[in-house]
Formats: sequence, C-alpha cells, structure tokens
Amino acid sequence: MAIIIDGKKISSDIKNELKARVENITAKGIKPKLALLLVGEDAASQMYVRSKERYCNDIGIESVVLRMPNTTTEEEVLDIIDKWNNDKTVNGILVQLPLPKHINESKVLLSISPSKDVDGFHPENVGRLVAGLPSYVPCTPLGIYELLKRYKINLKGKHCVVVGRSNIVGKPIANLLMQKEPNANAIVTVCHSAAPDISYYTKQADVLIAAVGSPELIKGEDVKEGVVVIDVGINRVEDLSTEKGYRVVGDVNFAEVSKKASAITPVPGGVGPMTISMLILNTLRSAEKEVYKD
Ligand code: NDP
Repeated sequence: MAIIIDGKKISSDIKNELKARVENITAKGIKPKLALLLVGEDAASQMYVRSKERYCNDIGIESVVLRMPNTTTEEEVLDIIDKWNNDKTVNGILVQLPLPKHINESKVLLSISPSKDVDGFHPENVGRLVAGLPSYVPCTPLGIYELLKRYKINLKGKHCVVVGRSNIVGKPIANLLMQKEPNANAIVTVCHSAAPDISYYTKQADVLIAAVGSPELIKGEDVKEGVVVIDVGINRVEDLSTEKGYRVVGDVNFAEVSKKASAITPVPGGVGPMTISMLILNTLRSAEKEVYKD
C-alpha cells in the first residue's frame, strides 16, 4: 500500500512552527506584515484572500487587505503597490490573481519590489532560483519541495518527471528539484502538451509531479511500480451523487496509481493545503531578512 502524503497534517505542523517563529521575531520588536490586494468580485479569489487573512491572524502576523472594485484602473493598482513597496512596515505584497482583463498582470507583478515578492513571481526571484541563489520560491512548488523533504524522499540522482511547464508550478518545481543541494539533486525531465505521448516519460519517473489541470489524465498503466506521485491538479468533475453536484479530483487517477505507487498525495488534502503555509513562510522570511539582506 502506498504511503499517503498528508499535506493537511504537514501544513498544520508548519503553521505551529511559524507561530513560534512569529512570537520570536515579535519579541525582538519586529511585527511581520502581509499586504494583500484583491481587485474584483471573483468568489474563489475572495475565499482565498479570506483564508490568507485568517491564517495570518491565527499565528500573529498582521495583514492588510485592500478590496478594490472591478473598475479599478491599472494605474491605481500600480500606485497601491508603489505605496506598499515604500512602506517599511510591509514585508510581503500579494496581488490575488487573476486580475480583471483590462489590467496587465505581468506589468503589475513586475512592479512589486523583489524583496517583498512573497509569491515569487517577479523575474528577479525567478532568475535567483534558476541561478541557485536565495530567492522567494512560488508557494505551490515550495510546498511540494517541503512535502518531499518532510517525508524523507531521497531525490539525489532520481528521475523526476514534471508534467506541466507553467510559471506557477511546472517550471519552478523543475528548477528546485535540479538544484545541487541535499534535498534535491534530481535528474529532471519536463514534459508538456507538445509531447506526442506523455506516458513515454511518466513511465520512467521515480518521482512524478503532475501539474496539468486535466482530470485523472495519468492512469495506472502510465507509471512504474514504486513511483512517488505528487498530484498538483485541482479539477472539478460532475458528480450528481454529491450535494454540490461535483467532486474534486487531481491530474492522477488515484485509485489506479496508488496501487503501484510507494507514496502519493491525495486530492484534496495533498499539495493544496501546503500553498498557504508557504506564502506565510515567505512573508516571515522577508521579515527575518533571510533572502534580501538590506
Ligand atoms: P497551466 O494551465 O498554467 O499549465 C498546465 C500545463 O500542463 C501546461 O504546461 C500545458 O502544456 C500542460 N498540459 C496540458 N495538457 C497536457 C497534456 N495533455 N499532456 C501534457 N501536458 C499538458 O496550469 P497550472 O500549472 O497553473 O496548474 C496545473 C494544475 O494545478 C491545475 O489543476 C491547477 O488548478 C492546479 N494548481 C493547484 C495549486 C494548489 O494546489 N495550491 C496551485 C496552482 C495550480 P503547454 O505549456 O504546452 O500548454
């Protein structure tokens, strides 16, 4: 039977650890602060922002949330960020995505000071990650890295196959796992929609990371015995037997793949819960001046 990698439990452990770190730094007179900007009325975004606010509150980090209407202009957004960039009491800035279509997302992300870029999307942090320098790493890949580390999955010389090459998940996790350092040092293959047959790659994986957004794409026959599987996908599929009329599945067919895997993340309850803990970890690292010293 595969070990079930319990992201919910690990995230809760990390939350307790972060709380202790916050107490420590607060005792030294530093009060960590996260500034969040939400533009528009997207229901999912509102829920994500509320849970980030709640998390901060639970562990003693100050959060400021600015909720702006859909009609907010790009210039107004850039002004807010400029204000937060120059506010010494703000350690982390997060712009909840997606932004309304009339606002240029890359321009906004580029305007965030790299030293407060706790989402790790600024090209300076991307470049630092690739170069193996201290950086803010995007929260979902950082969560995957932390899960593998805490479950003591040795990656040295192992073949990690990443399916998906997004800037948010695929590219950063590939870069993290190939770094020459104790909890990484893997041989990494990245595949994407241009692959004529992804099973050619997934069958070779010692560690498989699926970040595709396609429900149960990877089946039992696509993996080898003993594989470690990290399923990042969050997909809604219709299920009229449930109260909501849908259920959430990953990019991996859990029933089939868990029979062959040595360890696997469930969906939900695997990678998902880690993301928020990593955002707060990055905020704390900013307050502790761990990445950018000035
Ligand atoms: P994107 O849509 O940005 O990227 C998907 C990637 O998968 C692309 O690189 C695409 O290739 C590739 N792809 C699509 N179809 C196939 C296929 N049939 N075979 C091989 N590759 C394919 O998605 P994200 O990376 O943002 O997210 C991926 C999944 O992870 C989603 O389900 C999302 O909801 C979930 N997610 C979960 C998070 C969490 O747990 N907290 C956070 C972020 C995402 P190409 O580049 O060629 O288009």
